[in-house]
Amino acid sequence: MLKINEIYYSIQGEGSKVGLPCVFVRLTFCNLRCTYCDTEYAFYEGKDFSIEEIIQEVRKYNCSFVELTGGEPLVQEESLGLMKQLADSGFEVLLETSGSLPIKNIDLRVKIIMDLKTPSSGMLKKNMYENIGCLKKNDEVKFVIGSREDYLWSKDIIEKYTLNNKTEILFSVVFGKLLPVELVNWILEDKLNVRFQLQLHKFIWKPEERGV
Ligand code: SF4
Repeated sequence: MLKINEIYYSIQGEGSKVGLPCVFVRLTFCNLRCTYCDTEYAFYEGKDFSIEEIIQEVRKYNCSFVELTGGEPLVQEESLGLMKQLADSGFEVLLETSGSLPIKNIDLRVKIIMDLKTPSSGMLKKNMYENIGCLKKNDEVKFVIGSREDYLWSKDIIEKYTLNNKTEILFSVVFGKLLPVELVNWILEDKLNVRFQLQLHKFIWKPEERGV
């Protein structure tokens, strides 16, 4: 059984699949407490579902693109089985993870979007850098940047782990904390090879809206 906070159909708001219709499976629980968290309601609330029940629910939307998100999906070990069975059932599967738990056992058909937590998240110590070695070329590493310090830290990490050769890199701002134009200017000044992104859903709906 897996504890599920919500299953809903919306537009993919981030990453290289941005703008595509997608079914989201939000799993309950998170092992982190980021300062800017916008999904605290997923820390404890949820209902128990079997893998079969989740797939049945996902099928109702008639959409082949599914994302597991949270909270932190990997807190519940059965999420690995869920991803495998979704991929076996023909779904294109995406996982959003905080980068604080091992990703090595995730089915290789799953596209991973993994955070590396920046200093202003308050969760710097939780980054599992050994995960970087498990990333595939078409996975994505996401830096959520709330200050100049976060930006410089992210730049250093990209260099230290030669991330440009390993995977896709996403930069976004902490919503309401850093102006997008500031981050974009820094990226251009330094000619960084990263993809700047805005969380699309926060512009389509109210930033605090749930189920979108
Ligand atoms: S990892 Fe995500 S869900 Fe967990 S506290 Fe951080 S922002 Fe919130």
